[in-house]
Amino acid sequence: MTAATTGDPLISTNPATGGVVGRFPVADQAAVEAAVARAGPAGQWWAGLGFGQRRRRLLRWRALLTRRMTEVAELLHDETGKPVAEAVVETAAAIGDIDWAARNARRVLGPRRVRRVLPVAEAAAHLEYRPYGVVGVIGPWNYPILTPTGSIGAALAAGNAIVHKPSEWTPAVGQWLADTFAEVVPEQPVLQVVHGGAEVGAALCRAGVGKLSFTGSTATAKRVMAACAETLTPVVLEAGGNDAMIVDADADLDAAAEACVWGALTNAGQTCVGIERAYVAAAVFDAFLSRVVERAGALTVGAGPGADLGPITMPAQLDVIRRHIEDALDRGGRAVLGGRAAVQPPYVHPTILVDVPADALAIREETFGPTLVVTPVPSMEEALRLANDTRYGLGGAVYGRRRAVAVARRLRAGMVSVNDVLAFAGMSSLPWGGVGDSGFGRLRGADGLREFGRAHSLVVRQFRSPLASRTFERTDRDIARIVKAYRLMFGRAPR
Ligand code: NAD
Repeated sequence: MTAATTGDPLISTNPATGGVVGRFPVADQAAVEAAVARAGPAGQWWAGLGFGQRRRRLLRWRALLTRRMTEVAELLHDETGKPVAEAVVETAAAIGDIDWAARNARRVLGPRRVRRVLPVAEAAAHLEYRPYGVVGVIGPWNYPILTPTGSIGAALAAGNAIVHKPSEWTPAVGQWLADTFAEVVPEQPVLQVVHGGAEVGAALCRAGVGKLSFTGSTATAKRVMAACAETLTPVVLEAGGNDAMIVDADADLDAAAEACVWGALTNAGQTCVGIERAYVAAAVFDAFLSRVVERAGALTVGAGPGADLGPITMPAQLDVIRRHIEDALDRGGRAVLGGRAAVQPPYVHPTILVDVPADALAIREETFGPTLVVTPVPSMEEALRLANDTRYGLGGAVYGRRRAVAVARRLRAGMVSVNDVLAFAGMSSLPWGGVGDSGFGRLRGADGLREFGRAHSLVVRQFRSPLASRTFERTDRDIARIVKAYRLMFGRAPR
C-alpha cells in the first residue's frame, strides 16, 4: 500500500511481484460522513423490501459470486499473494455465509410470538429484531472476502445498509464485493466502500453508524472500541488468535499431522484461527513430529498460483515473524524445520519449533506466519492448562478418540474442531468469535444474525389484569392478591 498524503490514491500492489493491482481514491472524514449519510435512506429502502425480497436479492448476489468464483480467486491471488486454491476455499466459505444468512434471517429475526408469563397473563408478548440502519464494517487483509462477508451478509439480511472499509492492503477485493452487489441491487447504495488506512477506519467509527463490526488485530480492536465508546456505538470485535491443537495418545496421527500442517501453514500462517501451538501426548510426540516435519518440508513456497505457500502479504509482518523465530531459538528452542534462514522476504518457509519455553513470544503472542511450536505433554490436563494459558481465545482443535470431545469442551475458545481443523470456518450455521483478547460478539449462525438486529419487544394487553400492579388505582386488596399469587407461583423451593 502506498498513499503518501491526502489526495494521493491508494495503490494496491501484488506482494510477490510488486505489480500494481489497482488505484483507489482515499476517503477523508467528509467523504466517510457522506457515505454514511447516503447509506441512511438506502438502508430504509432496503429494510422496507422485507425479508423475502432481501433474501431473493442476496441469493442472486450469492449466485453471481459463485459464477465468478475463479475471477475473484485470481484477484485475491493478485492482491494478497495467496495461492489460487486457497482463494477458492476462502470464497466458497463466504458464499456459504451469505446463503445461510439470506435463508435464515426471517426465522431468526422476524416477528414472532413469545410465550407470555403468568404475572402478566393479560398480555401477549411479541419479539422482532429491527435493523440498526447503517452498519460500518472494517476488515483485515488476510481473508478480505470471507471476513467482511461474515458481517456484510448477516447485516444485509437483517435489513441494514453497509459502509465497508476494507484493509488498505486489499482495496481491490473490497471494491469488487461492492461492485458485484451493485449489479444485483442497482437502485440504492446499500453496500458502499470507503478506502484508506487507520484514519479512515477511525472516521467510520465516528461517522454515526448504528453498529460497527471490526475484524483485525487486538490492538486496533481496542482503538475501535474506544472510538465507538464516545457515541455508545455498539461493536462486534473479531480480533487476533493464538490457537492450539491438542493431540491425544489415541489419535490418528496421520490425520492429525495432515490437519496440523494445513491448520498452521494455510495462507502462509496468516490466519486468525491458524494453529500456532501443538500440545502432543508424550507417548506419540516423536511419531507426530516426524509426520508433521515430513509433510511441512514437502510444501512449495512461491509466487505461482499453484504454490502451497505464497508471500507474506504485509511486509511489516515479516519482522514480527523473524522476531518470534529468533526469540524462540535464543531461548533454547530448536528448529526441526526452517528457522532463522526461513525468512526470505517476501516469503517465509515453514518453520517447526520444539523445546520452546512457555514465555517465548512464539507461544505468548500471535505470530501470524508459517510457524508452529510443538510441545510434548504428560497428560491431557497439562495440555489443556498450556493451551488455555493465553490471553487469546479464538479457535482450537483436538485430535483423539476416547476423550477428544471432553477435552474440546474445556478449551477456552469460541470454536473448536474435533478430529478436524478449522472445520468451523465452513460451518455457516455456527457462531464465530472469541473470548478475551480475541474479542467478543459473534458472526454467523443465529447469534451472528442477531448481532445486526436490535431486539424490539412488544407487549399487547388483551384483557383486564388479574394482578393490578401497574396503576395508582390499585387497592390494598389488590396488593394482598399479588402477595398471595406470588406465594402460590414462586413460594415453593425445589427440594
Ligand atoms: P489491523 O488491526 O492492522 O487492521 C484491521 C483494519 O483496521 C484495517 O482495515 C485497518 O485499516 C483498520 N484500522 C487500523 N487502525 C484503525 C483505527 N484506529 N480505527 C479504525 N480502524 C483502524 O489488522 P490486519 O493486520 O489487517 O489483520 C490481521 C489481524 O486480524 C490479525 O490479528 C488476525 O488474527 C486478525 N483477524 C481476526 C479474525 C477473526 O475473525 N477473529 C479474522 C481475520 C483476521
